[in-house]
Amino acid sequence: MATDLCTEPVFDVGSFLFVDDEYDMTNRHQSQTIIIVGAGFSGLAAAYDLARQGFDVEVLESDREVGGLAGSFDVGGTRLEKFYHHWFTNDRHVMDLIHELGLQANVLLRPTQTGMYFAHNFYRLSSPLDVLRFTPLNLLDRVRLGLMVLRARKVQHWKELESLTAQEWLRQIGGEQVYRIVWEPLLRGKFGSYADDISAVWFWNKLKLRGGSRGKGGGENLAYYQGGFIALAEAMVKAIVAAGGRVRTSVPVQGLAIQRGRVSGVLTPDGVVKGDAVIATPALPTVADWLAAHADRDYVESLRQIQYLANVCLVLQLDRSLSNTYWLNVNDPKFPFVGVIEHTNFQPPDTYAGRHIVYLSKYAPEDAELVRMTDEQVFEFSLPHIQRMFPQFKRTWVKDYHVWRARYAQPVVVRHYSKLIPEVQTPIAGLYLCSMAQVYPEDRGTNYAIREGRQLAETIAAQVSRPPT
Ligand SMILES: Cc1cc2nc3c(=O)[nH]c(=O)nc-3n(C[C@H](O)[C@H](O)[C@H](O)COP(=O)(O)OP(=O)(O)OC[C@H]3O[C@@H](n4cnc5c(N)ncnc54)[C@H](O)[C@@H]3O)c2cc1C
Repeated sequence: MATDLCTEPVFDVGSFLFVDDEYDMTNRHQSQTIIIVGAGFSGLAAAYDLARQGFDVEVLESDREVGGLAGSFDVGGTRLEKFYHHWFTNDRHVMDLIHELGLQANVLLRPTQTGMYFAHNFYRLSSPLDVLRFTPLNLLDRVRLGLMVLRARKVQHWKELESLTAQEWLRQIGGEQVYRIVWEPLLRGKFGSYADDISAVWFWNKLKLRGGSRGKGGGENLAYYQGGFIALAEAMVKAIVAAGGRVRTSVPVQGLAIQRGRVSGVLTPDGVVKGDAVIATPALPTVADWLAAHADRDYVESLRQIQYLANVCLVLQLDRSLSNTYWLNVNDPKFPFVGVIEHTNFQPPDTYAGRHIVYLSKYAPEDAELVRMTDEQVFEFSLPHIQRMFPQFKRTWVKDYHVWRARYAQPVVVRHYSKLIPEVQTPIAGLYLCSMAQVYPEDRGTNYAIREGRQLAETIAAQVSRPPT
């Protein structure tokens, strides 16, 4: 046991500690302690593999609950993601893990409707036929738009696109009009002033992924998890604990204990938690702060090179539906949100005591006005915009609402992003990075968080020398 906070499997330090009372410590493979900072999907995936390999694993999470960005809150007695979440049918890393846990019966696969709001009109964009009916473009451009997914699939390797911006590449493969009407508003809506710098690789992945999650008729199928993403995160916690690991919530890590260039633990408000290795899953600037006094200045600065956008999500609980679309892209620069996601057109309203759940999502720099508003201000600010988009909408339909914010919600993936990503191994011996911003060439997502966490567990298992038995 390597924490000086905890000498027994169960020790209440005012935080929540998940341990298995049944686990026999005498059976524990005598091994090294790995501390994992963050109980998002990457941290939990790494912990799951390392604990099963006999490592002494301790996950420390600052939040009151596990799940990270895929964490949840209560709606009508059911857990719901703070930020809308689904999986694509080709998200194989998460599906593999679910199979390993024997939980495949909990995966819910459903067709979904995608649409676009443009020039005060709604357009369905779920299938190739919908694309051919998309009147804002002339017929030739509709065909071009339809062929873009096929052209994206022809790209053999992401490196072909690394030196191009998304706008350059999208113009090349779809033409000027398709770019102006379809893609530019989305890029600007999501990335704001960064829009022109976004890498073609980022966009290519979006086209490829969404194209790959289609059924035979061309319609999109998406996956969800019975009980929400939190139910999977909690099943992972259970498996970690069953393998002898520990997961503690409400434990904010404040820094690293480093001695002679080697990490020896992490600092928490209750003292040092000792460990032989540390995996850091928070955003890179957080790790840069921890390393400022310990590592070479150039290295610390290199961890600050990737910019992040924050996200604000207004989650409405309505007594009726807004539309029959699950995912509505907003191509109207006057509308302050980039997407309107009616979750209950995916997971039925009876899951949430009959409430209809609508997310309004906005990515923005952390100092943007919307990010700084109070919850009530966000709600009041949004109402007239929702009314404009859905003229039948009335404030009285809203039975409750929540506003969630994440400071580090989306890394800004620019050209040559591969050169900005730090290695998982840091100059500090025993300290590893497993952060959302290192997911590449794909964009962040729980599927890739699981992949990265498991890959790192493999690397550590191969590297961290075990004491002789
Ligand atoms: C608006 C939005 C929509 C999304 N939609 C989807 C989707 O549909 N499908 C999908 O798969 N993915 C989606 N994602 C992305 C997905 O949520 C993330 O990619 C994934 O959850 C990242 O997991 P992670 O473990 O790498 O990071 P995180 O989830 O960020 O986990 C890091 C953890 O570290 C903890 N932490 C931070 N600092 C400290 C500290 N000092 N001490 C202790 N703990 C700390 C945090 O609280 C957090 O729990 C979405 C994200 C957003 C923002």
